[in-house]
Formats: sequence, C-alpha cells, structure tokens
Amino acid sequence: MQSSLPASRADLLAWFDQNQRDLPWRHTRDPYAIWVSEVMLQQTRVETVRRYWDRWLETFPTVASLAAASTEAVLSQWQGLGYYRRARNLHAGAVFIVEQLGGLIPTTAAAWQTVPGVGPYTAGAIASIAFAEPVPAVDGNVLRVLSRWLALELPIDGKPGRAVIDTLAAELAAGPRPGAWTQALMELGATLCTPTSPACLLCPVAAACAAAAMGDPSRFPLKAKAKAPREEHRFALALLQADTRAEWWVQRQEQGLLGGLWEFPLLASLEEVEDAAEPLTHHGDLLHIFTHIRLSVTLLSGAEGSTSDLVPSGYQTGRWVLPEERETLPQSRLMRKLRERLLLPTG
Ligand code: SF4
Repeated sequence: MQSSLPASRADLLAWFDQNQRDLPWRHTRDPYAIWVSEVMLQQTRVETVRRYWDRWLETFPTVASLAAASTEAVLSQWQGLGYYRRARNLHAGAVFIVEQLGGLIPTTAAAWQTVPGVGPYTAGAIASIAFAEPVPAVDGNVLRVLSRWLALELPIDGKPGRAVIDTLAAELAAGPRPGAWTQALMELGATLCTPTSPACLLCPVAAACAAAAMGDPSRFPLKAKAKAPREEHRFALALLQADTRAEWWVQRQEQGLLGGLWEFPLLASLEEVEDAAEPLTHHGDLLHIFTHIRLSVTLLSGAEGSTSDLVPSGYQTGRWVLPEERETLPQSRLMRKLRERLLLPTG
C-alpha cells in the first residue's frame, strides 16, 4: 500500500461517519435486505431505489418468501427499475439458498459467490456490510476513486489495470470496520469523486490523491475504447379493441433481453401483417437505448381485425389485455413509452 493511504483510510472513515447520507438500507444488518439493495443500486439511482426497496421487502420480506414467489410476481415488483435480469437473478439466488443451502444464508464472500447471479462485487458488499468480513467490493465507483488515488495510467477495463486496483482494494479492505469502509468508498464515489466533476476541495483524502495533485482528476480512470452500440429497427404494432379497450400484448421468451415482459409485438418487418384487412395508422418513430443497442421503433396502430393472433418470433404467447389487467403484467419501459405516445391511459 502506498505510504499515505493508511492514514487516508482513517480520514475517509471519519468523513463517512460525519457525512453519510441517511439511506434506509444502512439501518439494517439483514444480509438479504442488503443483498436486495446492492442489486437494485447496480444500475439505478439511489432516489428510485429508496421507493422500490421498501416495497420489495414488504412483499418479499425473507429469502424464503422470495423463493416461493412466481416469476411474474417478482417481475411485477421490479417493474420500472429496468435491467430485469437483476430481478431474475435475485429470484434464482433465493431459490438456490432455499433448495441447495437449506435456507441458510451464506456468511462469507466466497460462499456468496456460489449463489447464482452473485458476482465478486455483490458478494464482497454483503459479506463486509452484513458480516464484517474484511473483503473488498469493487464497483464502478470504487474503480474510479482508486484509479484517481493512484493516477493509474492503465485502462481499468484491461487486466493489468484491474489487477492493480484489486490489489489495492484488498489491502485497504483488510483494516478496521470493513462494512463502513466498503460504504465509505462508495459514498465518496457517489457524492464527491463523481465522474465528471470531482470535488477535490471537499475531499477527505485529497492530500494522498495523486490525480488531485496532478490537477486534472477527471482524466482518470482511463478506459479502453468502448464498442459502439448496435443500431436496430423494429415496428411496434398496437392493436386495440374499441369497445372493450383491450390491447393485444405479447410476452417475450424467458431468455434474452427483457425476458418474460409484456409489450406490443415488435416486428423486424411488416411482412407478417401486410395482408391486414384494416389499414394501420403511423404514429412516428421513437428511440430507445439499451446498454448495447440503439433501437429505433416505428409505432403503428390498428383495430382488432387488422391481423389476428399475432405472436412473432421471440415471443412465447399473446393475449387481449383488458384495462384492469394491465398493471398486473410486467412491462418494459419501452412499452410504457409506446403507450404514452398513443395517449393510452395507464392501469
Ligand atoms: S481528491 Fe478529488 S480525485 Fe482524489 S479522491 Fe478526492 S475527489 Fe476524487
């Protein structure tokens, strides 16, 4: 460890004790509740997670209750948080703990990593926060902070750079108060050492930070060139029954992007509906960004009879959905956008 970093560790902990945000999951040592918070926080903002975390724990208060729930109920609770694979993984992890571990929650990072869907970061976070195990939890925030402390001239998404960070993270984790340390590092990354405008003047570790000393901290972390997202196009077909206000929805296959969610059929071409008896109405295009895909969608609507029983490839089933059923079926954000564009009421 660099000579000034041990002192900085104590400084950062002291700063955390004084300045940490009051977040509901910081009031519990329940490993299941911490696990849920860590998974929700991976790609979602703290303010959004606050609402979902409470509601989730009311619905599924224990690992056993989550394991016993249906996939549909789990996805419904997750609705709106995005990246639904996280909900599926939580569910699969709960089933694993109940069925393979006799319902006993793992107490070490190594044991947590045997749970499906739990990677080194989540395992380290749960083990350090819930069980005070002195192990690191390295996420994007921590990569950024530590790369700045070192002014690391290696890309953090390459093996050599990552190895340097992992070594430093493990050394720092080995000190007192492992759970507070994990959270203090994350808190620094989330509040002061932000990606584009690090607040070095307020930072408790500025004296030991090599990037701050160089005067251009936001140059770090270095990253290898990112791949450009893939461009795709689909037609979204909204079929509506005027009298019942039912809408034709299809459910995605369980595997793959947005698995198991319900939406209007998305079609690569209009071949499947070109014999439609009724004309289709155009509602323009909209753009939806997934992590690796920029999807442009041309929205069309038609009446019942434009086509029937349309279940394109990539979907497992379809049905007419009545207004009162809509909130019970898990939908993607894209689906919500499409319905907003058509000025269809929610619920
Ligand atoms: S001194 Fe600046 S760059 Fe360094 S850790 Fe603190 S906020 Fe980040």
